[in-house]
Amino acid sequence: MTKTITVDDLKSLLNVIAEAMTRERDRLCELDGVIGDADHGIAMELGFSAAAKAVAALDSATSDPTLIFNTAAKAFLNAVGASSGPLYATALMRAGAAAKGKSFLTEDDMVDVFVALARGFQDRGKAEIGEKTMVDAWAPAAAACRAAREKGMSLEACLSEALAAAEAGTEATKDMVATKGRSSRLGERAIGHIDPGAASATVVVSCFKALFLS
Ligand code: ADP
Ligand code: MG
Repeated sequence: MTKTITVDDLKSLLNVIAEAMTRERDRLCELDGVIGDADHGIAMELGFSAAAKAVAALDSATSDPTLIFNTAAKAFLNAVGASSGPLYATALMRAGAAAKGKSFLTEDDMVDVFVALARGFQDRGKAEIGEKTMVDAWAPAAAACRAAREKGMSLEACLSEALAAAEAGTEATKDMVATKGRSSRLGERAIGHIDPGAASATVVVSCFKALFLS
């Protein structure tokens, strides 16, 4: 059966992500401690908690998906001082733009929203695949999701493909030298370590998938 994604589903999605970030906070901080400044888990927890709280305060009866994503973006940006703040805020705004004019999302719309979200990180941070950033998880996840949809797969199956691609992309950051962000200062010393932003992106993708399990 095809799914319809409502404003309340999107509120739940943000809640599920916020809870996952609380669970993953210490692991993400540890990853960032190795090649950055050890705050990534805190940033992601603060950002998504603020986003989930802000959208919970909206009246579902008078809200649409665009308002949910834009409100989440603003709350995330205000809560987070680290570089993940503007990256997630831009991505969430792009998701909002992709949902424009719709009162709920179809499975096709959700694929468009997911792809727009993923693209937002690249537009904001100007990183390409292979630069050891969250883009190494988001870009392949979006591509896999789109390709799966074009093959006629269900939203859940598309998000499973996206998650597998995000996991593989995150693992691949281990062998990379960073050329963007704080860890670019480390040069070759970053080799052997997973990028924290790619790891947290994979957590976000896993929450999308979890929400749309039939
Ligand atoms: P900060 O580096 O300011 O402490 P965070 O710790 O919250 O910020 O986030 C670090 C993550 O941000 C990195 O692991 C990387 O994935 C991501 N990142 C940094 N710069 C960029 C960029 N230009 N484009 C995409 N992602 C980036
Ligand atoms: Mg950091």
